[in-house]
Amino acid sequence: MTLSFPRTSDHVAGSTLAGVDERAPRIGVLALQGAFREHAVVLRRVGADVVEVRLPGDLEGLDGLVVPGGESTAIVKLARIYGLDEAIRRFSAPILGTCAGMILLDRAHLGLADLEVERNAYGRQVASFEADLTLAGDPTPFRGIFIRAPRVRALGEGVEVLAENDGEPVLLRDGRVLVAAFHPELTDDPRIHERFLELVTEAKSVRA
Ligand code: GLN
Repeated sequence: MTLSFPRTSDHVAGSTLAGVDERAPRIGVLALQGAFREHAVVLRRVGADVVEVRLPGDLEGLDGLVVPGGESTAIVKLARIYGLDEAIRRFSAPILGTCAGMILLDRAHLGLADLEVERNAYGRQVASFEADLTLAGDPTPFRGIFIRAPRVRALGEGVEVLAENDGEPVLLRDGRVLVAAFHPELTDDPRIHERFLELVTEAKSVRA
């Protein structure tokens, strides 16, 4: 099994010719609460340099940021206390938000993804479940782990749906922002993180 991110290697090779630096992408993981360690493990596995973000200054020089799942009310409060809410609003590179991270990025919070999201929107009994998801452009299903997951109630015109579960969007892209209602860091399958690194590589080559 390959541990690098093969689909981005073409970009890297191409950008070498253009004189773009070849270092591993530097990805921050918001490390206030929740599943940040698990994201760091997967990100390293797919070739990223990982930085734990706890203060606004930690965002400097990052090529991308992951906002993990956890308890959105706790993450929102801590982010406000440390001034990270404003700092993340100003952050201009790609962002991946999972579960509570998706809530943080929505219209009602940081406003970086044009989505209306409802917290804990699955009934109590089915608050946590697993489902095979079909990813756009990929024939192999992805095992989605949903833990007291949020549901997308409305989405803006520019938002692309990359996976659905029972007709509901669960993986979406709004420009440089990728959000998942499930926990891709809890499965032994790095494809969502690989897709995110593709966004990062694209954004870097545009900036270069
Ligand atoms: N229910 C949590 C919240 O609303 C999100 C759950 C998760 O991140 N797994 O913050």
